[in-house]
Formats: sequence, C-alpha cells, structure tokens
Amino acid sequence: MKRTLGNGLNQKALFLDRDGVVNVNHGYVHTKEAFQFIEGIFELCRAATAKGYRIFIVTNQSGIARGYYSQKDFSALSRWLEHRLWLHGIAIDHTYHCPHHPQQQSKYGITCTCRKPKPGMLFRAQRDFGINLKRSIMVGDSLSDIQCATRAGLQHAILYGPAPHPWWPALAKAGGKPYYRASHLRAIIPLL
Ligand SMILES: [Mg+2]
Ligand SMILES: [Zn+2]
Repeated sequence: MKRTLGNGLNQKALFLDRDGVVNVNHGYVHTKEAFQFIEGIFELCRAATAKGYRIFIVTNQSGIARGYYSQKDFSALSRWLEHRLWLHGIAIDHTYHCPHHPQQQSKYGITCTCRKPKPGMLFRAQRDFGINLKRSIMVGDSLSDIQCATRAGLQHAILYGPAPHPWWPALAKAGGKPYYRASHLRAIIPLL
C-alpha cells in the first residue's frame, strides 16, 4: 500500500534492515519456518510507533536474482511477517525490497539503484510517504546498511550486532559519519 500522508515532508521513519535485525540471518531466509524473530524487535517497534515513527523494512533480496526463491515467495513471507507484527501491535507501513544483483544472469541481474548501500529504497519511502530523512533512523547489521543510511542523510545509522562487530574495522576506516553500535535491539530505544 502506498499513500502520501498529509503532513508534508516532516514524517520521521524507522528503517529496519530485515535479515539480521528483524529475524536471525540464517542465509536467504524465504519461509516462515526459517523465520526467527530477534529478541527486542517487538519492543523497539512499539517504542518507535509510540514516538511517532513510521516503520519500514528495507531489505536486499538478491536470493530472487539468484533464483533461490521468487518474488511471489518473498511477497507471501512479507505478508505473513506484517501480519505477525500486527498481532504484536506493530504496523509496518511498507516493505521495500531489492530483488537485484548485478552479477546474476537473470531478469533481476541488473545494476539497480535500490540495492543497499545505494539509498534508492529510502528515497522511495521519502517520496511515497512524505518522510523527512533527516529525522529518520536506520537499523542494520551490515556495512551496506550504514552506508545507505549515511548516503540518504539520515539522522542516525545504527549498527546492530554483538560486539565486537566484524564490520567495525571497515566502518572505522570510512570514518567521520555519526553512527551508533547496539548489541541489543532494546538499547536503541533511547535514541528514538
Ligand atoms: Mg542484514
Ligand atoms: Zn535493486
């Protein structure tokens, strides 16, 4: 569902990477049986909603370009996920996904503008929902999530993962951009 809300460009958003933030990343998760929620995700989302954030999932799904699963499989899992979150009192405003991968020989094997670290999915949310990116936050578990957030000019980029994080050296080298590290999703709530 896409709609433009009537509050100009001042709506703040919480952008969540999916695999490794919402669910444990077992690698190309595409069934509900393999979907394991990460502790603290419901609390984080409910706190964000209470503070006026819209919530979006922004996820690279190159498993589609690789032929591991289909767009239809992904959509079915997304509907199931959104329903599960709804039962926990959480509304996901939209799930944005990138099905592409530049090195695959398939119809999704293209160089696109949506695969993180490119910020295309965030710009789409900005346009579709009137999101003020400068007031918005991204939570991810990969360097590409942090790069995507900083390229889009978000207020905060938060790297979630048990410390010390394997991406830390690359991030330290990238330098200069504000971001946070969180070893538990609940630790992010005070930043909202
Ligand atoms: Mg991830
Ligand atoms: Zn893409």
